[in-house]
Amino acid sequence: MDYPGNLFVVSAPSGAGKSSLVKALMEVDSHVQPSVSHTTRAPRGQERHGREYFFASEQEFDALVAANGFVEWANVHGRRYGTSRRAIEERIAQGGDVVLEIDYQGALQIKQAFAEAVLVFILPPSWDELRSRLERRGEDASDVIEMRLANAAQEMAQADKFDFVIINEVFERALFDLKTIVHAQRLKYIAQRRARADTFASLNIP
Ligand code: GDP
Ligand code: ADP
Ligand code: 5GP
Repeated sequence: MDYPGNLFVVSAPSGAGKSSLVKALMEVDSHVQPSVSHTTRAPRGQERHGREYFFASEQEFDALVAANGFVEWANVHGRRYGTSRRAIEERIAQGGDVVLEIDYQGALQIKQAFAEAVLVFILPPSWDELRSRLERRGEDASDVIEMRLANAAQEMAQADKFDFVIINEVFERALFDLKTIVHAQRLKYIAQRRARADTFASLNIP
């Protein structure tokens, strides 16, 4: 199915800076909107239901899986996370862009369902920096941090399945890289043909 909007999927090991980069992208580019995932993990301090996530009980999540409500879902760090079909399809059908912050298992499922999806993997500059960002963020208990670091090696080994890789060392540089990827999609022939139909017509391009 060919949708006029773009679907961007951003994955990274926890702490690489995925959420910060996506948030900063959306602040400068209102055409890109997030998809709010469902999760069975508990909310962190400032998180609000319906904003960062729809927080669901195991039973509620089961019901959504049974009702085929998810376009993808996966077990990540011992919790379940899923993207509802409704969260994306309507918007990209109307020409809006959607960004998903999901793990690599989900990203690969999205590529199966939406062949045109653009997959971006964010890497930290080093192991030491990844650990110190998780510690500095201060949102997770130390055993959770250890589990997330232990999972990171296996997650980063999936980067070869992605279309683009950004190394988030200097934040502003990484943000520029992400904006460049988004911009390049909008310059594709098919996108320009739609967005600039008048120009194409005046140039007599069939
Ligand atoms: P953070 O990535 O450290 O901020 O922690 P979160 O608890 O927000 O997310 C944990 C993991 O779940 C990350 O790898 C996310 O990319 C992943 N995740 C979040 N939402 C979804 C989703 O809807 N589907 C899938 N498959 N993974 C998700
Ligand atoms: P993720 O969503 O991938 O788990 P976050 O966006 O929460 O990661 O980033 C983890 C921590 O690292 C946050 O405290 C964030 O402010 C910080 N951070 C993100 N990018 C950089 C960077 N380039 N340099 C230094 N710190 C960063
Ligand atoms: P959070 O840690 O809640 O994901 O990010 C808070 C805000 O700080 C976001 O708006 C994000 O863009 C910004 N931010 C996070 N890390 C950095 C950084 O290293 N450099 C800059 N310039 N901004 C950052």
